[in-house]
Amino acid sequence: MKSHEQWSVHERDDLGSQAPDDIDFPSSPRELLDAVPAAIYATDAAGRVTYFNPAAVELSGGRPELGTDQWCVGWRLYWPDETPIAQADCPMAVALREGRSIRGQELIVERPDGTRIACMPYPTPLRGADGTVIGGINLLVDISDRMRAESDLHDSEQRFVQFMQNLPGLAWIKDEQGHYMYANAAAERAFEAPLDQLLGLTDAELFSPATAAEFAANDRRVLESGCGMQTIETLEHSDGAVHHSIVSKFPLPARDGSTLIGGVAIDVTELKQTEAALRRSEAWFRTLAEASPALIWRVDPAGGFTYVNPPYLEYFGRHEDEVLDRGWFPLLHPDDASAYMAAVDAAQRDRSRLCAAVRVRHRNGDWRWIESYALPLFNDGQYLGHIGTSLDITERKQVEEALSEADSRKDEFLAMLAHELRGPLAPIRNSIEILRRTAAPETGTVVQTLDRQVRHLVRLVDDLLDVSRISRGRIELRREQVDLRAVVQQAVEAVGPLCRDLDQSLTVGLPAEPALVDGDPARLAQVLGNLLNNATKFTGRGGRISICIDEPSSSPAGSVLVRVRDTGIGIAPEQFARIFDLFTQVDTSLERVGGGLGIGLTLVKTLVGMHGGMVEVRSAGIDQGSEFVVRLPRVEAARSVAGNAGSDATAASAPRRILVVDDNRDSAESLCTLLRLRGHEVAAAFDGLEAVEAACRFRAEVVLLDIGLPKLNGYQAARRIRERLGDRCPVLVALTGWGQESDRRASRAAGFDAHLVKPVDDATLARVLAEAGAR
Ligand code: ADP
Repeated sequence: MKSHEQWSVHERDDLGSQAPDDIDFPSSPRELLDAVPAAIYATDAAGRVTYFNPAAVELSGGRPELGTDQWCVGWRLYWPDETPIAQADCPMAVALREGRSIRGQELIVERPDGTRIACMPYPTPLRGADGTVIGGINLLVDISDRMRAESDLHDSEQRFVQFMQNLPGLAWIKDEQGHYMYANAAAERAFEAPLDQLLGLTDAELFSPATAAEFAANDRRVLESGCGMQTIETLEHSDGAVHHSIVSKFPLPARDGSTLIGGVAIDVTELKQTEAALRRSEAWFRTLAEASPALIWRVDPAGGFTYVNPPYLEYFGRHEDEVLDRGWFPLLHPDDASAYMAAVDAAQRDRSRLCAAVRVRHRNGDWRWIESYALPLFNDGQYLGHIGTSLDITERKQVEEALSEADSRKDEFLAMLAHELRGPLAPIRNSIEILRRTAAPETGTVVQTLDRQVRHLVRLVDDLLDVSRISRGRIELRREQVDLRAVVQQAVEAVGPLCRDLDQSLTVGLPAEPALVDGDPARLAQVLGNLLNNATKFTGRGGRISICIDEPSSSPAGSVLVRVRDTGIGIAPEQFARIFDLFTQVDTSLERVGGGLGIGLTLVKTLVGMHGGMVEVRSAGIDQGSEFVVRLPRVEAARSVAGNAGSDATAASAPRRILVVDDNRDSAESLCTLLRLRGHEVAAAFDGLEAVEAACRFRAEVVLLDIGLPKLNGYQAARRIRERLGDRCPVLVALTGWGQESDRRASRAAGFDAHLVKPVDDATLARVLAEAGAR
């Protein structure tokens, strides 16, 4: 303890010389050291502890054995970077060994309980009177709080840097003289200078004079006003692109009393470009909308107008305020408004396309037709309403109406024409029949020619009538189960004479089994008749014609195929689709047998279609012949089928008393002559009243009664005859130009037993007379 006292005495002298006399100063150096709140200990020259104060015990967490323990060995010490400090390297050991004071070496003391404290040691060697080191004294200042503060500062600095580096915008700090002190990564990129080059430079050294001047002026405003500001600055990049940024500049007080300038910038070049493009396209569309003669409008999801173009306002003679929102409703015609609004509502509800026509009140007071087209408008999937245009279609409507009126007048006319043509054909046909029976043998060929030509004429008139019915949708099928083999036979019989005249061979191929379809036998006969007729017409003298029904095994399932082939003029492939159109003839200059109107194939296609079938044409080309294939849905045999249409048509009937009534005297008289030639007893009447009288007086068994008669029409006459004669009423047969189902119904309702359409052919008349006799 000697050395301690020496040191103590020396210290006391030193202190005592400076202490004022009037304060209550500790009486000894030991007391003084004990009272110091910093850890202090002293050692001898070998480092053994000779003194420690209470603060040292508190700091170290242990109490050393005086004169024995070497304190710096008892502790575990670390440098700030966590590496342990060897005994010989601890600052106190170095101070004793090297006889010098050590300063500024931070270290970490680990206490026995594991807790750690950051310290700054101040080891100082003590020398004896001869100058040798006799021990040392160490002061340890707890610097944990300072270290924590420094580390917090470090952390916050790190956070700041991270934050700034990740900022999508540019950030920088300049000093009062405009030198860059800090710049984040975005600023480095935009200024095209790495940070180490950038720091310390000014705008004048980095950018063009104009740009630097612009930046500097803004910086000055911040420094002068002491307030932040926002502005737009432009900077030309090295690729020549000029970038626009929204810049915020603000003053930052520095510790030395100067003012720094902080800056943050967001590059809005793209935004500006998009905005400009948007403005351009908006202007473009607006110009378009305003220049367009069409009415253009936009409605919101609730159906109120949010935009109408000037032509719209002009069309209605209204002011914008009057039509926006729902002000356009009163412009709609009351009769159309609800249907039009229903269409608009549906389009809005379903977010779908709108196409609707409506009458609206034009500015001159007229009701005019407009047609509106609109599409739904979406933004990011959100429905914004509809945008549409409306066109004035008044003239189109008028033309359409006029056309449809003209069309239906044409149809009516065709129907009337055909009907009127049938009138004169009846007596001509009768007369031919009379001639056939009475004329001299040498006129036989003349009669045949007449007969052929009249038949042709009758077919043309029938086709014409059918076509007008088709266009008026008035063709009805009288369906039954039909064996197509019988229909083929019938068509072949009809065309037979024509083929013979032209030396054409006609072969028929029929399957052994019935080919059943659900159809109207008369119409199917018309279809095959037309095809066979064309085949002979378009095949020269000596050609070959065939008609066949494919075997079921070689037909598609559920279908019956009928083929009509010829070796005639053929058809070019490009004509295939056209020839089924109404009034189409491939080469009208062609001189053909019999001519035609170009309606036969239209009828074929329509009638086959009405039967649920289809017809196709094939030909290898001009002069290669043609083939028409009719495909009809096959039905399975449910019951036995008559299938003998017309086969007993020529059955002869026994002589009867027949009254013929027709206001066309030629018709009436020629028919009378014909019937007389067949051995019947015949009388004629020329109006309705006469008919009733004659029926009673003449005691007719059959009355062939025209419908369109003067005085009493056929229906009325039939009723009266039935009333007058009751049970003795003759068989009443309507003989008329009108052959529709509705006409047949009307005649049945009036009490007729049968309905024949003029000009009735010989065979049909014979059959009806035979059936009349069978009653
Ligand atoms: P039409 O025979 O009265 O002219 P169609 O409608 O029956 O009218 O036929 C239309 C056109 O189709 C005919 O004018 C003819 O050019 C062509 N055509 C029809 N059948 C044949 C066929 N078998 N061979 C060659 N051409 C035909």
